Amino acid sequence: MSHRRRAARFHVIVASGEGARLLRLAIPRWTLRASAAVASLAVAGLAVLLADYTVLRASRIETTAFEARIAEERDANARLRAEIDTIRREVDGWPALHAKIVSPFGRSAPTLAPAGGASDDADRTAVRVQRATGTLRQIAGVMLRFDRALSHMPTAWPVRAAINSEFGQRRSPWTGDAEYHRGVDIAASHGERVHAPAPGAIAFSGRDGGYGLSVVVDHGSNVKTRYGHLSRVSVKAGEQVARGQLLGRAGSTGRSTGAHLHYEVLVAGRPVNPRAYLWD
Ligand SMILES: [Zn+2]
Repeated sequence: MSHRRRAARFHVIVASGEGARLLRLAIPRWTLRASAAVASLAVAGLAVLLADYTVLRASRIETTAFEARIAEERDANARLRAEIDTIRREVDGWPALHAKIVSPFGRSAPTLAPAGGASDDADRTAVRVQRATGTLRQIAGVMLRFDRALSHMPTAWPVRAAINSEFGQRRSPWTGDAEYHRGVDIAASHGERVHAPAPGAIAFSGRDGGYGLSVVVDHGSNVKTRYGHLSRVSVKAGEQVARGQLLGRAGSTGRSTGAHLHYEVLVAGRPVNPRAYLWD
């Protein structure tokens, strides 16, 4: 019985240096065990809290990074929207520009749907840009044909001199009556060189009634030029000529009152005002 009492208690004795006992505490063993249990529970709890804190801290760092990324993406999005807006405004101006370019060729510009709200701007702009690309290809095709036709247009002067008599209605220098002048009379002196204003094939070379000694050049695209009253011809029918090549010399052959060059431009066989072609 006394053994059990001794084993169940734990004695703490506080003594002075001389060995005099000052205090004696009897602590029951279960108290110690309970304290140890409480302490280990506390340590375990603390460990759980610490783990939670670590996780929280890590997720807080992640959240901050995520928020920064969202802000960055919001900025990038705003910049992209501004760029799309600029592009959309440009694209909106294209149909008018296109109409201006193609209308001289007798073509109409395709109608593009007007720009919608902000939400579908990017999609609509993409579609419009895609259509405009097709339109640009069309324009490039037209320009290529135009360039080819233009390179064969008689835009140069066959002889550089003043025009003495204009195209169209005029008073006949022979009868004094009104007559239709099919070309212009260029004040070229006798023997002056007459040059091809554009490349082409010689359609005629020789004597031709009132035109006298004359040359006709076929430039293609239904455009021909005629040179009348020549004193000499330097080309034969069927021959190819380059721009600036010598066709003959000015003179006064045929129905002519004096040395000059009668110059005609024929489109689809009909005489037109050569001044409209003289760009150079
Ligand atoms: Zn004439």
